[in-house]
Amino acid sequence: GMAMKYCSTCGESVHLKVPEGDNRRRYVCQSCQTIHYENPKIVTGCIAEYNDRILMCRRAIEPRHGLWTLPAGFMENGETNRQGAARETAEEANAEVDDMSLFCVFSIKHINQVYTMYRGNLVGGKASPGTESLETALLAEDEIPWRDIAFQVIAETLKRYYLDRRQGRFDTHYGDIDKRDDGSFSVDYY
Ligand code: ZN
Repeated sequence: GMAMKYCSTCGESVHLKVPEGDNRRRYVCQSCQTIHYENPKIVTGCIAEYNDRILMCRRAIEPRHGLWTLPAGFMENGETNRQGAARETAEEANAEVDDMSLFCVFSIKHINQVYTMYRGNLVGGKASPGTESLETALLAEDEIPWRDIAFQVIAETLKRYYLDRRQGRFDTHYGDIDKRDDGSFSVDYY
């Protein structure tokens, strides 16, 4: 995450140190002694299906403005993981999903995120761009813009999805995505 300068509790400056009884450096407030723990964030999203098509969104925001993605975003407090996926689909594509089931979970440690992606039925096949999307589209497999996918994890999700679909059955997949030194990615399923 970003370097923290000031305590969100009292506004005084923080510094990095290993708190007593801990084994990692944390941001600790020099004034009120609050320890500001940082933990991975959960991103949740959806492959919304309609007949043999899926819903994709073209991003209207940075990062990766103009590239294609599946509706997904950070989970909010006060919602379940699945509700978060449905909410993101509503926000980014004005679309409703039902019959949702978990499709994949990826740990991406170099960005401190866990991605959870669901499959769901796109109700009525209806979608339109939300404020974070330039456009939405219902795409068949041969229309997927593989060269213009915003994030590696989304490309991997789609790859797995079409592998499963060809085999006529969907599993739930768990994997670790790592970035190699040369900038390429590896995916380790387990
Ligand atoms: Zn403080």
